[in-house]
Amino acid sequence: MLNIDLHCHSSASDGVLTPTQLIQRAKLRGVETLALTDHDDIAGLPEAQEAAAENQIELINGVEISVSWRGRTLHILGLGIDPKYTPLVEGLATLRAGRLLRAERIAAELEKNGIHGSLEGACAYVSNQGGIIGRMHFARFLFEQGHAKDIKSVFKKYLVKGKPGYTSHQWAELSDAIEWIRDSGGQAVIAHPGRYDLGKNVMQDLLNEFHALGGHGLEVISPSHTPEQINLFAQHAQAMQLAVSCGSDFHGPNESYYDLGQLPNIPAGCTPIWHNWQNHS
Ligand code: AMP
Ligand code: MN
Ligand code: MN
Ligand code: MN
Repeated sequence: MLNIDLHCHSSASDGVLTPTQLIQRAKLRGVETLALTDHDDIAGLPEAQEAAAENQIELINGVEISVSWRGRTLHILGLGIDPKYTPLVEGLATLRAGRLLRAERIAAELEKNGIHGSLEGACAYVSNQGGIIGRMHFARFLFEQGHAKDIKSVFKKYLVKGKPGYTSHQWAELSDAIEWIRDSGGQAVIAHPGRYDLGKNVMQDLLNEFHALGGHGLEVISPSHTPEQINLFAQHAQAMQLAVSCGSDFHGPNESYYDLGQLPNIPAGCTPIWHNWQNHS
């Protein structure tokens, strides 16, 4: 069985490790094929490709695009994208600009709740000039300031819907995200479908719409999923003729449930997303 991990983050978005450090860790952990999928950003890919070549790892150019769908936020992975494809590059740049405006709103909300300087504090955790800013950067600042005992608790207390530092936001359209990915030569995959808390009917609507728009796969293996959810989404994938993907969603050594390349096998009977990739069939 190949050691393949198709979802992780570097310091180009909200991961802790630089692309080079990430590849080195993947190598140590026996990963053969890795996709770097930073949130709304592909700036880490050139460095990751270079490090991957030095370490004999196959690096898949990836991205995790934030999407608004029926008032909810979804994450759509793009695997095998062309990082030079202009509509994708421009679409992601628009999303990053939106992130900055959202960060100002988050900081204003926290300010109202007596937490000062959070925009500057969160920005200090953005490692790249011009890199994305997200809730994880606020979480690290709030944790550093002693507002909760760990990152998970910070989210629960401050950064999820209904809490002081949460503000709603308009991300990309599902149709646009899939189009950018497909037209750049990539495959679109619904990331961690179990995280969205969709009822049965709404999940089926999403799968139908995603399939009709040309989406390819479902991330069945994810640290966000229980064994029951793995089975459920494997069945959905088979029923909808979607391929199956697997990813650790690794963000850093102490911030993730799964380490790189420590994934359960995809369930029997599913078609792996890589089944028709070069060197994989
Ligand atoms: P954003 O895209 O800026 O809204 O941030 C989403 C990111 O925040 C996710 O990719 C995770 O890295 C992190 N995140 C979201 N919810 C939680 C949670 N409940 N606990 C820990 N991290 C979370
Ligand atoms: Mn993240
Ligand atoms: Mn995600
Ligand atoms: Mn992710």
